[in-house]
Amino acid sequence: MKLIDGKAVAEEIKIHWKQEVIEYKNKSGRVPHLAAILVGDNAASESYVGNKVKSCAQVGFQSTLIKMESDVTEEELLDEIEKLNNDQDIDGFIVQLPLPKHIDEVKVILAIDYKKDVDGFHPVNFGRMAQGLPCYLPATPYGITLLLERYNIETSGKHVVVVGRSNIVGTPISILLSRKSPAGDATVTLTHSRTKNISIIVSRADIVISAIGIPNFITEDMIKEGAVVIDVGINRIEDETMAKGSRLVGDVDFNRVKNKCSFITPVPGGVGPMTVMGLLLNTFKSAKKEIYS
Ligand code: NAP
Repeated sequence: MKLIDGKAVAEEIKIHWKQEVIEYKNKSGRVPHLAAILVGDNAASESYVGNKVKSCAQVGFQSTLIKMESDVTEEELLDEIEKLNNDQDIDGFIVQLPLPKHIDEVKVILAIDYKKDVDGFHPVNFGRMAQGLPCYLPATPYGITLLLERYNIETSGKHVVVVGRSNIVGTPISILLSRKSPAGDATVTLTHSRTKNISIIVSRADIVISAIGIPNFITEDMIKEGAVVIDVGINRIEDETMAKGSRLVGDVDFNRVKNKCSFITPVPGGVGPMTVMGLLLNTFKSAKKEIYS
């Protein structure tokens, strides 16, 4: 078994990038700038946004964090989005999900100017992705394809089983991997909570990608000998041996599955750091006007 070390790959990309960012700054006289809106005080969201801000500093990007109270109205949030849409200094921005229940996430995503939608959630970017047109790829699927490429994992002709069909991970990664493109050309089965005989379907996969948010859902018996396992799930479970009383795990029973597969991503340190890289790559593309003018 080989560990797919997303943390190390993200560090490699950051080092490789530093010079390119310096050259961009010297040539353009400006600094790539990412903004993030964080609503409420969800500890996981705070930690994700914190990592994004830290990574911006590491590659020489500017970042702006806008914190809003959990009782912010939808209108106030939409006003803030409009300000960022019109701010010439901001190359791209994200609204960290999930949002409090009284705010309509779809309305919020639709309000973001697709040219600044560096999370790749807006239907314009999603539609362009589905048609293989230049766009901001959704950050997590983008990060997964970078990992597959970095570890020379062949996807062409392989059977990929994706577990989970969210708009931000499961559905877009299933589209990307089935497209006629590098890190594509796979035969993809997209599964979800209504799928029957899911264990049997997963056990036939050459590559399994799990994004459901249930600890230990993917067990050893579901994995074909030598399969590749990409664990997107981030779940906090109780663990009294840890100082915090808890720890993060993925959807995969890592300790058992690792003995059976050829490659596996750990949680933490697998897909998570590459999601941040996907976001920063999109922001840099926006600064350079590579996708949209
Ligand atoms: P989500 O919106 O939470 O949806 C979960 C998906 O899992 C749904 O499609 C659901 O099916 C499916 N599902 C739930 N129970 C299932 C079961 N028993 N069998 C089969 N499918 C089942 O998904 P998400 O936002 O993609 O998040 C999934 C996980 O990935 C979470 O742990 C999240 O924290 C993590 N995540 C990690 C990253 C990262 O950077 N590493 C990024 C994003 C998300 P239905 O559609 O039928 O309800």
